Amino acid sequence: MAVTVTFWGVRGSIPCCSAEYTEYGGNTSCVQVDLDGQTLILDAGSGLRTLGDLLFQQNKTDVTLLISHTHWDHICGFPFFRPIFEKTSHVDLYVPRQQNDESTKEIFAMLMSAPFFPLSLHAIPSVLHFHDFHASDHFDLFDGKVKVQTIPLTHPNGACGYRVFYRDKSISYISDYEHGSAGSSEELAAFVNGSDLMIYDAMYTPEEYEHFKGWGHSTWQQAAHLTRIGNVKLTALYHHAPVHNDAMMRQIELLAQADDSRLFAAKENTSITL
Ligand SMILES: [Zn+2]
Ligand SMILES: [Zn+2]
Repeated sequence: MAVTVTFWGVRGSIPCCSAEYTEYGGNTSCVQVDLDGQTLILDAGSGLRTLGDLLFQQNKTDVTLLISHTHWDHICGFPFFRPIFEKTSHVDLYVPRQQNDESTKEIFAMLMSAPFFPLSLHAIPSVLHFHDFHASDHFDLFDGKVKVQTIPLTHPNGACGYRVFYRDKSISYISDYEHGSAGSSEELAAFVNGSDLMIYDAMYTPEEYEHFKGWGHSTWQQAAHLTRIGNVKLTALYHHAPVHNDAMMRQIELLAQADDSRLFAAKENTSITL
């Protein structure tokens, strides 16, 4: 029995491609969760392209994606996801309804339409299943073997946090999120309580956060706080700011680990087995 989490994109906002980003990685949000061979994907940022190529080579083209929200950095990899171009693929997408209440399918159809993209969603040969839900709903995946809980997150236009339960393990995915009042962190702490791994939006340093209040992101200090009050076993700092090059990320990770040894900064192309 194994749950393996692989980071394919750990950056927030926009992909960063220069040599300063080779250690922690420059692709945007995408995490693969392998559950005894079943593939679950958290977010479809630019990291999804590389993962898609690998899944295609491995002939694993039936996949399920859980999307936190439809800001570009979380969906821009979808039109380049190799499995969707195979007739035999089945791709399930779970996307929370957003404020304007357009369906998931309508939003992805907009993403893949002129003048933004040359190929329309209708021309995609694979079987795409869009599952709409509201953040706070619960649902099952893979014939009930996986249970998913969701929670609305404070973020411009809204976002959805996930907790995925499989056998005796659970993973919380909290991106993108701006921490707020003590009450809201208590609610989130109850949601993530006891997770084996929490992936958390730690985009800003505490100093930067002072200039970006209301932008919808959090800090490594809040990650440490939530880890403690939520009894989380291991926490990945995630959604790194584009201005945080490798040198800065090393500093942030050192500070965070000195504060709480359960924290680490997620790096692209690395895996953890729970
Ligand atoms: Zn984002
Ligand atoms: Zn966002």
